[in-house]
Parts: sequence; C-alpha cells; structure tokens
Amino acid sequence: VTGQKPSVGRIVHYVSYGTPGGEYPSVCRAAIITEVGQFEPGSHEEHRAAEVGLCVLNPEGIFLNRGVRQDELPPPDRIVAGERSEHRGGTWHWPERT
Ligand SMILES: [Zn+2]
Repeated sequence: VTGQKPSVGRIVHYVSYGTPGGEYPSVCRAAIITEVGQFEPGSHEEHRAAEVGLCVLNPEGIFLNRGVRQDELPPPDRIVAGERSEHRGGTWHWPERT
C-alpha cells in the first residue's frame, strides 16, 4: 500500500524482535502513530519522512518508541524466490489485508 502517508492516530503494525534462536518469532503488534517526522522535501533528512513515533500495544504491556522506520514488503504474490518475505524487527508497516 504505497502512497499512504502516516498520520497521528492511525493504527499500524509494529514488528517485535524475535529471539535469535527462534524461541520467540518476530510478530506483528498493533501500534498507534504518536508523531510523524517533519522533514523538508529535498533536505538531507527527507529519507526519514516515513519514521514515526509509536505507542505499541503488546499483550504484556505498552511501550513507546520514536524514530521507527517503515518496512513494507511486496504483495505476497509478487515475492520472488530468495527475497526477504518477512518484516524486519523494530519496524512498522501498514496492516496486511486479510
Ligand atoms: Zn503486519
């Protein structure tokens, strides 16, 4: 879902960090956008425009995070063999359509 701009109050997914051994996989958590970076187009910080602050709603507790990067994947039918098919931990994305 490209073209959507993050804004305060939208609900997105935050990807938790899994444990390196795989005991806990990284999973999507609901998160509310608390702030959106204001970066001038053309400025050297423009690439940070998709960074947001999040209030992450974990089942075990809420935590607040700032400067979280967006990490979108291609749609499932467009993922090429060998390409990454999972979101990186510590990033956000628009909720998948189910
Ligand atoms: Zn997700």
